[in-house]
Amino acid sequence: MMQSQSSTQEMIKELKEVRSVFSNCEKAELQGYNRELEQQARLDLAISLQMSLDIDWVINKFMNHIHAYFLFDGFVYTCAEPDTQIKQSRQRGHSCFYNLNIEDKDLGKLKFYRGRKFTESELVLLENLLTILIYPLRNAIQFKQASLLAHCDALTGVKNRSTFSEALNREISLSQRHDHDFTMLVIDIDHFKKVNDSYGHSVGDDALKAVADTIQKSIRTTDMLFRYGGEEFVVLLGNTDCEKSYHIAERVLESVRKINIAVKQQLLELSVSIGMACLSTQDNGESLFQRADAAMYSAKNDGRDQIIVA
Ligand code: GH3
Ligand code: MG
Ligand code: MG
Repeated sequence: MMQSQSSTQEMIKELKEVRSVFSNCEKAELQGYNRELEQQARLDLAISLQMSLDIDWVINKFMNHIHAYFLFDGFVYTCAEPDTQIKQSRQRGHSCFYNLNIEDKDLGKLKFYRGRKFTESELVLLENLLTILIYPLRNAIQFKQASLLAHCDALTGVKNRSTFSEALNREISLSQRHDHDFTMLVIDIDHFKKVNDSYGHSVGDDALKAVADTIQKSIRTTDMLFRYGGEEFVVLLGNTDCEKSYHIAERVLESVRKINIAVKQQLLELSVSIGMACLSTQDNGESLFQRADAAMYSAKNDGRDQIIVA
């Protein structure tokens, strides 16, 4: 409720700003133009950009709309946080470039391309149009950042359990459709309770972060790491056969052993037990997890600090 009130107020504020931008446009060599129609079109754009909080949608809607007033051959929009790149058509020829920001918040960079040079009056028009994009883009960026945070574990920064089932089922469907191998690793830190009991919870937290970082560094950027529970992690290895997955699991095992955390001149001895299961034709997400989890418990029973394949 609060949110919808404030976004309505923001929209009214923005429409007022857009109106004031239009009145300044008289100077902007828009002679011969039907000013009322132009104003209406801009208001329509301002309103339509409020309709989605998806960054792709907002940028593409803006581009499709302004193409009627401002001719360009292609564009690139890039943003660092959240990591986004949206491109269309040709990225060659003359270009004009804008760093978008509002109240010190970086909203990314936008570059337009065209074979023919952009004129001064076109750039004035474009800059006025960009003022309409700014607030909807800021809202879409904030929404994406909030949803990314909601899916991340606050301590380790890796994905939390909230998206695990959905991601697992999606990855399994993809693998089955493309006839790719797929492997799951269930990884549990050994005797972790002892770390907390001996050195305190805060050292335990540091160790958890170090293990998560180490696992992340041992896998590829396309693989997915989740903090499944307290000191238990799951890795999904797409398009990876059993042999390659075993090597990755070994890399995890070895790199955890090498974690170097010293407390009171003593080195923490950390290790993990890993259960590994490769997707078979009879598996679904649940059965694959059960097999990997059972293998992890076998690794515990066999003395820990090792990999067992289901
Ligand atoms: P095992 O080798 O059988 O896995 O033994 P374990 O001690 O690791 O397993 P157990 O399940 O008995 O203990 C897990 C411990 O992990 C207990 C809990 O306090 C600790 N833990 C879970 N989440 C966190 C956390 O976020 N921070 C810290 N510091 N400790 C955590
Ligand atoms: Mg444990
Ligand atoms: Mg555990």
